[in-house]
Amino acid sequence: MRKTEFYSLLTALPKAELHIHEEAVLSRSTIKTVYKRSFNKEMTAAEYDELFAYDDLAGFLDSFIKIQKYFTNINDLELLFNDFSEYLEKNNIVYCETFISPTSHLKKGWDFSQMMELICRSLNKIKKEHGRTVKLIIDVSRTFGTENAMNNLDLVLKENCPEIIGIGLGGNEVSGPAKDFKDVFEKARKAGLHVVAHAGEVCDSQSIKDALNILKAERIGHGITAVNDEDFIKELVQNQTCLEICPTSNVFTNTIVKSFKEHPVKKLFDEGVNVTINTDDPTFFKVSLIDEYWNIYKELGFTLQELKTLIKNSFKNSFISDSAKKKYCNEVEKAWNQWFDEHPECQKELS
Ligand SMILES: [Zn+2]
Repeated sequence: MRKTEFYSLLTALPKAELHIHEEAVLSRSTIKTVYKRSFNKEMTAAEYDELFAYDDLAGFLDSFIKIQKYFTNINDLELLFNDFSEYLEKNNIVYCETFISPTSHLKKGWDFSQMMELICRSLNKIKKEHGRTVKLIIDVSRTFGTENAMNNLDLVLKENCPEIIGIGLGGNEVSGPAKDFKDVFEKARKAGLHVVAHAGEVCDSQSIKDALNILKAERIGHGITAVNDEDFIKELVQNQTCLEICPTSNVFTNTIVKSFKEHPVKKLFDEGVNVTINTDDPTFFKVSLIDEYWNIYKELGFTLQELKTLIKNSFKNSFISDSAKKKYCNEVEKAWNQWFDEHPECQKELS
């Protein structure tokens, strides 16, 4: 299928995204606006380019935190959510679970309740105006230590905001091993929150096992290093553990995967692992959700039917009710049939 037809089909299909950092969906104009508000001067083109001139995970994380620091006024978050809303619209994402990393903002002295109030207002607006649902997973972060993570969790529990459905563990996988966060995750689970963790993004499969066994993570962010551990792949298949795969992110951070063609998502999928497709950080990796589906179709040989399975996987592995999962999957099927009815010339692709 040609690219224009592919994008038309993928735009028509309702989608979910489960691994996306809200702060990483900001537009060029938002970055420039908050920079100007923060430093009282225009950002130069060279300064902008420099922000995105990293070639590994550590460099990317530095840039991520640097941009978070440009947000000096809590009301700037509204700009972020306008960008986020546009992103959802453009990719026809009807349901999204997004990470929010509050640590840098809290260090600036922002009030968590006030942040949440503003964020929830933005989410309600997205729901009301566009009919798209966004739920929050608070990233307690590996980067800033155990105490900080527990502090973030306590704020979440005190807030008791219905939009927050769980906690996640992002940040530096090397310096923040899962065992350090055992108590934080246990407390979150006991309070009824969902728990997920980035693991196996740069560290070997033991890191994924620790996230599953010690933290009892319900989904694994990335998990690509599982591919080097055949016995563990069998376990993942048996337990149907969901991996939130972010292909372009892995190529960009250049640690395990050096080029798109080397990405292990097709091998994992073919072996029966429960994978979903996500972008991680669209602005930072210059990719949208539809681009990711195009990339794996074009570069890795996924068939269109397999892409439909992946799209349904995102709904099935989300933290919504079984009836909502069923409803969304039916809508995918309906939109799929309708699109092919309107494009009979493309039906040969399905045989
Ligand atoms: Zn991530």
